[in-house]
Amino acid sequence: MQCLDERTQYLTRRQALRRSGGALIAVSTAGTSSLTVPQLVIAQSNDDAGAERAGNGQRKITSQTVSTIEFRDNAGKETSVAGRVLVRATDGGLLVEDAARRLWTIPASQLKNETVTDQAFQLFDSEQLGRRLVEETRAAGIDTEFHIHTTDNYVIAASTPEACSQWTSQLLERMQIAFQSYWQNRHFELHPLASPLPVLILSNQTQFAKMAEFDRTPASAKGQGYYLVTANRIVLFDLTAQDATSPATTIVEVQRRVEKVPASVATVVHEATHQIAFNRGMHCRYADNPVWLTEGMAMYFETPDLKSRRGWSGIGKVNDARLFRFREFLKARRGTGSIESLIRDNSRFAEADRAIDAYSEAWALSYFLIRTRIRDYSQYLNTIAQKQPLQWDTPEERVAEFRSAFGDDLAKLDRELVSFTSRLK
Ligand SMILES: [Zn+2]
Repeated sequence: MQCLDERTQYLTRRQALRRSGGALIAVSTAGTSSLTVPQLVIAQSNDDAGAERAGNGQRKITSQTVSTIEFRDNAGKETSVAGRVLVRATDGGLLVEDAARRLWTIPASQLKNETVTDQAFQLFDSEQLGRRLVEETRAAGIDTEFHIHTTDNYVIAASTPEACSQWTSQLLERMQIAFQSYWQNRHFELHPLASPLPVLILSNQTQFAKMAEFDRTPASAKGQGYYLVTANRIVLFDLTAQDATSPATTIVEVQRRVEKVPASVATVVHEATHQIAFNRGMHCRYADNPVWLTEGMAMYFETPDLKSRRGWSGIGKVNDARLFRFREFLKARRGTGSIESLIRDNSRFAEADRAIDAYSEAWALSYFLIRTRIRDYSQYLNTIAQKQPLQWDTPEERVAEFRSAFGDDLAKLDRELVSFTSRLK
C-alpha cells in the first residue's frame, strides 16, 4: 500500500462550507482557550477532495469481494489499493474500503484499472490492525518503540508505558458498554462492531504533531486528540506525562494524574464517542452528518464521573465549560436565527473565530434536545443514520429534516432552548 499523504488534498473554503461533517476530523485544540476542556475546531479529512469530486448520483453497491484498483494519486503517481467497493459513482468514480477500514475516494479521472477478484472481502483482525498502526507511524517518521495492547473492542498501538494504554483501554471498554446501554434505553439500537477499533497513543506532543501532519490535519497538530474519519482511528498522546519528569508506569499513578488533568479524560471520551458513533451505526462515514449533531453528541458524553465504581454515572451531567461559553455567547454575540444558522450547514464550525461559539451552541442544543425531546431526537438520529456516503444535502434539505423532527417553529424552539439553559446549574 502506498503512503496516503501523496494523494491528499484539502477542500477549498467554499467546498468546506458546502460540505457535510461526514468526513470531518474532530480536533481538540489546547492552548490559549479560557476553557478548562479542549476547545474544538474542525479540519478536513484527507480524502475529502476526492469525495467531493465523486459527487452525487452514485449507486451504493457494497461489494463483498476484493477489487484491486489501480489509479493515479493527486500528485500523478501510479498507485493501487485492494478493498471492497462501497460506492460506484455514475461517472465511474469509486469509494473503496480497505481491510483496515480506511476509505479511499478515487475520482473517475484518476482511475486506471479495476480488477474484480472472487476473493471474499475480510477486515483485518487485531494483529493485522496493530501492524498497520505501527506501519503508519513509521510512514509518519515516528521512529520509536511501540507496544500493541488488544482488548475485546480495541487495538491500541502505543509508544507510552503500558500503564497508559491499559488505563485508556479500560476507559474505552467502559464507554462501549455505557454508550450502548444509554441509547438502548432511548430508542436507538447500536450495531455490533464489525472489527476492532484502532487507537494510536503517542508519548508526547512532538510525536502527535508529526502524526497530525502525516494525517494532513495541521489544525490538530497543537491539539490533544483527533478522530480521523478516513482512517477510522483515534490519535491521542499521553497528557498525563506533559508536565511530569517521567511518564506514569502504573495504572494507579495514571489514574492519580488523570484526576488532575480533566482534559485527559474529556479528550479520550470525546474522540472515542465519535469513533463509536461512526462504527456502530449512528453515523455513516462520508455521509452528510450535521456537525452540530456529531459534535453535540461527543460533547454530551465528555463529562463522565470516573470515581463511580459502577462504570459511567456521568452521562448527562452539565458540561460546565460549554455552558459557560454558551452563556457568554448568548449575552454578547448570539443573534436571532442562531439555531437555523447552526443546522443549515457547517460553516460556523469551519471558521476558527466562530467555532468555539458554534461548539457551545451545539452542546446546548444537543443537551436540550436529549434532555427534553428524547423521542424526537432519537428519531432524528435514526434519520441521519440512514444517510448514504457521498450524498450531500442542501442547506434547505437540512433545515427541512430538522423541522420535521423538532417542529416548524424554530423561534419557539429557540426561546425554549434559552429558557432551559438559563435554569441549568
Ligand atoms: Zn469532535
